[in-house]
Amino acid sequence: MAKKTVTDVAVQGKRVLVRVDYNVPLNEKGEVSDDKRIVASMPTVKYLIENGARIILCSHLGRPKGERKIEFSMKPVADRLAALLPDVKITFASDCIGEEAKEKAAALQDGEILLLENLRFHKGEEKNDPAFAKELASLAEIYVSDAFGTVHRAHASTAGVAAYLPAVSGFLIGKELDIMGEALENPQRPFVAILGGAKVADKIGVIKNLLKKCDTLIVGGGMAYTFFKAMGYEIGDSLLDAESIDLAKELMAEAKERGVKLLLPIDTVVAETFAADAPHKTVKSSEIPANWQGLDIGEETRALFAEAIRKAKTVIWNGPMGVFEFPAFAKGTAAVAEACAECEGTTIIGGGDSASAVKKLGYAAKMTHISTGGGASLEFLEGKVLPGVAALNNK
Ligand code: AMP
Repeated sequence: MAKKTVTDVAVQGKRVLVRVDYNVPLNEKGEVSDDKRIVASMPTVKYLIENGARIILCSHLGRPKGERKIEFSMKPVADRLAALLPDVKITFASDCIGEEAKEKAAALQDGEILLLENLRFHKGEEKNDPAFAKELASLAEIYVSDAFGTVHRAHASTAGVAAYLPAVSGFLIGKELDIMGEALENPQRPFVAILGGAKVADKIGVIKNLLKKCDTLIVGGGMAYTFFKAMGYEIGDSLLDAESIDLAKELMAEAKERGVKLLLPIDTVVAETFAADAPHKTVKSSEIPANWQGLDIGEETRALFAEAIRKAKTVIWNGPMGVFEFPAFAKGTAAVAEACAECEGTTIIGGGDSASAVKKLGYAAKMTHISTGGGASLEFLEGKVLPGVAALNNK
């Protein structure tokens, strides 16, 4: 069911509570060292300014665990916002609920912004305490959800407040849901799903859901060795998720049954130890020597995967193909990123490591969409209901 967005409600003169993701890194001086997430909120914030809303921004920052810890204050974010929006009056409330917040919210004029202090200074936020949610909601007349990174959590500011206010999505969440939703519901084919990363167990749900929808499933990274083990290969000291061997067998059988092409690495870069400068060589995946460990996909596999990706009309990628943090073992991840960049179809990069790899390699602008939420995008790809989306009003 499609959800209402910020363009479906009248915001002129209204106090609008916007849950943004301003969980940004701070430097030793306590300044924002990377404002990407603040910049990412600008389409929604600017739309609200231009349409005369009275904007109340709220977010968490770090993990203060329900206590007021000043090193996690949102104040530096207010300074950064002021630099990004020099013509807008921006005030700051030193607590997200209570008298000061109420007074400052009530004093807002059209097009002005009030930034609230860190939501997680209160235990009620992560507990989704109804009393805390109600207090927060009492500041505003409309709720806009725009923090995709936390939308899979049922917290007071991501789900709870929606019980007390008209609740709609902002542009950032809207884009995530539209692009990923379309890929899952109505993909242009061939649809290639690429999964990598360390553990099969973490991605079972995603693999199962994508198997129902894709034409080709590519498995690389540390996950692949559990599949090799399931096929009866020796994997030396490679990463093994022993509890998932049977599951890997089931997934392979399911792929066969559904007619999904499952591509696993045919060759593997093996290293003597887990280290950036470890001696390494490329071997057939069925011939991983004892005491060696697979840390990347080999050259033939890179070509095989790249060919499937380039020909795809829809690609979804989550998880690196190897230990990409070590340059010697980053070639597989780089090859997949390059093939995605060259693919003319829709390319969607799930958050987390694959997103950082794509950005670091300079391919970000070539992708259709890079998700802003690692955990949230995984849960969405699993087909799970995201509490922060479910809580929004239907169209
Ligand atoms: P995940 O969080 O499950 O997406 O896993 C990401 C991590 O998997 C990264 O830190 C990679 O270094 C790691 N990884 C990928 N391939 C391998 C591998 N072959 N052996 C060990 N770790 C790997």
